[in-house]
Amino acid sequence: MKTAEMGMGCACLEAVARVELGAWPTPVERLPRLEAELGLGRLLVKRDDLTGLALGGNKTRKLEYLVAEARAGGADTLITTGAAQSNHCRQTAAAAARVGMRCELVVNGDRGQPVTGNLLLDRLCGATVHWCAREDRAARMEAVAAAVRARGGAPYVIPLGGSTGLGALGYVRGASEALRQLAARGEEVDTMVCASSSGGTQAGLVLGAALAGYRGRIVGISIDAPEQSGYEEQMAAVARDAAARLGVSAPGAEAFTVAYDYLGGGYGVLGALEREAIDRAARCEGLLLDPVYTGRAFGAMLDMARGGGLAPGERVLFWHTGGTPALFAYAGGLVKAGE
Ligand SMILES: *Cc1c(COP(=O)(O)O)cnc(C)c1O
Repeated sequence: MKTAEMGMGCACLEAVARVELGAWPTPVERLPRLEAELGLGRLLVKRDDLTGLALGGNKTRKLEYLVAEARAGGADTLITTGAAQSNHCRQTAAAAARVGMRCELVVNGDRGQPVTGNLLLDRLCGATVHWCAREDRAARMEAVAAAVRARGGAPYVIPLGGSTGLGALGYVRGASEALRQLAARGEEVDTMVCASSSGGTQAGLVLGAALAGYRGRIVGISIDAPEQSGYEEQMAAVARDAAARLGVSAPGAEAFTVAYDYLGGGYGVLGALEREAIDRAARCEGLLLDPVYTGRAFGAMLDMARGGGLAPGERVLFWHTGGTPALFAYAGGLVKAGE
C-alpha cells in the first residue's frame, strides 16, 4: 500500500457521494463487568445498533452510499430483499422514507406470521411487502423492478444485505471512525469481532482497517455461510470493488478470518449459544443483543474467551451491528410467559 493511503482513513472516500442517514460517530463503550468476568484486558463495544435510523443497525452505513447512487441515477423506488425479520429491509424502508422514495421489499418466510419486530417497522415506514420463496428472491426483485418501470417509475435494486463494493464503503468509513475513537481514548485493541453474513460489513472493515494502519485481527463470526463455501473469496471480491472505487490496493481472500463453528441450527434459529449471550449481555451490562446476528456473534466471543480463541488479557472490540427489533419476534423463545 502506498504511504499516502495510510493514516486514519482515506481522503478519496470523501469524494464518493453519500447521503447522511445516521448519527455519527456511534458510541464506543466499555463493558467492565463482562470484561472482568471473561478475564479480557479490555472489552469494548462499537454501538452500531445506535446509528439512529429507525432503531439503527449496520445497514445504515451501507445505505448512505447506496441511496446516494440511487438518487444520482434518478431512482424513485428502492427494491431489496431479505427474510421477514430482515434488519436490512427495515433500514432500507426507513432510508426510502427519509429521502422521499418508495420501497418495495421482497421477503421470504411464512406470509401468515405475526406483524411484529422488523416486519412491523417495514410497514410503518410505508414499504410494500412481496412474499416469495427464498430461492426466488433475486428473480422476484427483477420482476418487481419491471413492474415499477411499467408504471413509469425508476427502480434501484439493492442486493441482499447491501453487500456490494459501494455498500462496503460504509464500513471502510466505519473502521476509520472506530480507530479514530480508540486513538482519542488512548486505547488499542488486538481483536475486533463482528457478525458476518452477506459480507459487506467485514469486507469494508478489513479494507478500512488496513487503510487506517490497524495491525490487529478482525474475526468475522459466520452466521450462515458454511465453511468451504468460498465466503472469504466472496468478501475479497466485494473489498476489491470497494478498493477500486477508492483507487487503493485491495486485501486478498487470505486477509479474511472467519469462524465457522457457530452456525448452530441455521439462519435465524435461536439456540442455547444465542440465548446465553443475550441473557448475559442484558443482565450483566444492560446491553441488548439480537437473536439472529449479534446474539450468535457475542456467544461466539464468549466461547472464544472460555476456549482460548481469545487469550487472557486480550483487548477486544465487539461490533454491535444492530438487529434488536427482531427480539420482539423471538420473545417466546427467549422468555416464558407467566413467569
Ligand atoms: C446484516 C446484519 C449483519 C451482517 O452484516 P453483513 O454485512 O451482511 O455481513 C450483522 N448484524 C446484523 C444485526 C445485521 O442486520
